Amino acid sequence: MSTDTATAAPTRRDPTAPWPILQIRGLGVTFGGFQALTDVDLDARQGEVHFLIGPNGAGKTTLVDIITGLTKPTTGSVRFDDVELTGHKEHRIVHLGVGRSFQAATVFEALTVAENLDIAASFRMGLRGLLRQARGRRPEVAEALEVTGLHDVADRPAGALAHGQKQWLEIGMLLTQKPRLLLLDEPVAGMSPDERTRTGDLVRYVAKDCTVLVVEHDMDFMRRFADRVTVLHEGKVLKADATVAEVQADPVVQEVYIGRAKDDRNSVSRAAAATDTTTEETA
Ligand code: ADP
Ligand code: MG
Repeated sequence: MSTDTATAAPTRRDPTAPWPILQIRGLGVTFGGFQALTDVDLDARQGEVHFLIGPNGAGKTTLVDIITGLTKPTTGSVRFDDVELTGHKEHRIVHLGVGRSFQAATVFEALTVAENLDIAASFRMGLRGLLRQARGRRPEVAEALEVTGLHDVADRPAGALAHGQKQWLEIGMLLTQKPRLLLLDEPVAGMSPDERTRTGDLVRYVAKDCTVLVVEHDMDFMRRFADRVTVLHEGKVLKADATVAEVQADPVVQEVYIGRAKDDRNSVSRAAAATDTTTEETA
């Protein structure tokens, strides 16, 4: 990052301009000879729901992997709350307040919902906190149950939960660690419309005290819940830090992304139409 860019960035204390708590500059990574990300810049402000969209293989998960320390970038920097994250180990990045969910929810299936939350909360406390803690449900666990709407299933094994509930549990587990940046990789994949809405509401609620970066494929979900959007395509930023309206109005984005999604939808409706015909024929 050049000094000029650093000087031009708004300061954290400017109350009128939310400070970009996450600043990514010139990020690049190669796997073997393959350039998966090239010169990626991204700003996410405090308390914002920032969507990262783009076709399959665009590099979205790779970007999240770099932010969380799972993958080392070849070039560039990731600054979170003025701390350089690149070069830190994953657990250190978690301690700095960065939480991340995976596409397949990672919960302990044999343990109850409350036990899962309890374990997640205990990671943050450290041994001393654990030894000192009083019996009974920790406040972070009670809060996570409330926020995720999993109160009624607190004593059920996580393995018995519906798909959507498992995703909410994973988000709840992250919340017990009081993150300041939450990265969600395709949180609504495989969810019903109702589950999507509930997830969107949960994300908006979480963003009251936390910046949320949502990797998503679902354009309708983006339209309903995004504050700002960055579009990735073939490892490069196609549209940076845009509004939903700007993304929707951009012809290049339309072509590479929305056009493709439309094609997919058309092929889905064609398939559905074909199924309908078959049903009619057999009926
Ligand atoms: P997205 O999440 O946008 O679908 P990914 O970030 O998973 O895309 O992948 C971007 C590109 O980088 C893909 O072509 C993928 O095959 C490649 N890629 C990702 N991780 C690795 C890796 N560890 N080694 C080699 N190639 C990788
Ligand atoms: Mg991905």
